[in-house]
Amino acid sequence: MPAVTPTETKSLPTVADASGETRPVEQVSTAVASFEGAGFPVRRPFPGAFDLAHTDPFLMLDQMGPVDYAPGKALGAPDHPHRGFETVTYLIDGEMEHRDSYGGGGVIRGGDTQWMTAGSGLVHSEMPTEKMMRDGGLLHGVQLWVNLPRADKRAEPRYQDITGDELALFRNEAGDALVRLIAGDLGGVSGPGHTHTPIVLAHATLQPGAHLALDWPREFNALVYVLSGSGRVAGDGGQSLRSGQVAALGAGAVLVVDADADAVEPFEVLLLGGQPIREPVFSYGPFVMNTKSEIIEAIDDFQAGKMGSIPPRVG
Ligand code: MN
Repeated sequence: MPAVTPTETKSLPTVADASGETRPVEQVSTAVASFEGAGFPVRRPFPGAFDLAHTDPFLMLDQMGPVDYAPGKALGAPDHPHRGFETVTYLIDGEMEHRDSYGGGGVIRGGDTQWMTAGSGLVHSEMPTEKMMRDGGLLHGVQLWVNLPRADKRAEPRYQDITGDELALFRNEAGDALVRLIAGDLGGVSGPGHTHTPIVLAHATLQPGAHLALDWPREFNALVYVLSGSGRVAGDGGQSLRSGQVAALGAGAVLVVDADADAVEPFEVLLLGGQPIREPVFSYGPFVMNTKSEIIEAIDDFQAGKMGSIPPRVG
């Protein structure tokens, strides 16, 4: 798993193991295997068994792949609209190209994040690059949907291209866990992503036997999703988790994750949390608003072409 993985971690900032009340496991769910876009495989840990109260401000999480495409077989999500929220695409392996009706987009590669605020609405495409289409290759990443509060749902669309080398990296005391912070603050370290509401988003790699204990804002919810490997959340009183499982944690001060000591591969987890927005959510496909009438308006606006179309390629 490439992502951003320094060959040595000694020079990275060290965040001491947090002590304090461990956040307990409240609910565990297993991702549902599905297909998105033109038919690429995803695993979707939420929504599903989780209600929004556990995930707010997050609406959906998809793990894309890992899938090893043969030449000519790579798939993406051709032109489609969004309004009222943000899509955050974090790639671990492979390459994708985003294009949109605002003239935004670009190529992201393993380690990079594209943080798109759909806001008032746009049309975009999310496709493997021409190189991946032609040659095939490994594609692995996640897409997270982050809700916007009512006041920001009509914000002007915006892109943040966060390259892998911009991520804030730190290690635990023992040096056997690496945390890549995409957005938010953990252990006095700040990630590069700009968010509309307070959020933490991080990818952690724990070597077998590693222990990670992080101060986690009390007012945030807390979710741990397992990309691969096996381990435990919430310490001794907690629960074992394996690839494709997500745990929602209850109230407390410290998020605790441990990798199985006898594992043969690292424990790769996504750590997510945020301050709940606590507003009504009315969603329909690619639109997430507060009321049914706003959804009807979004469909009308899209059908009337008000969200634009992706300009043809030049040159
Ligand atoms: Mn999309």
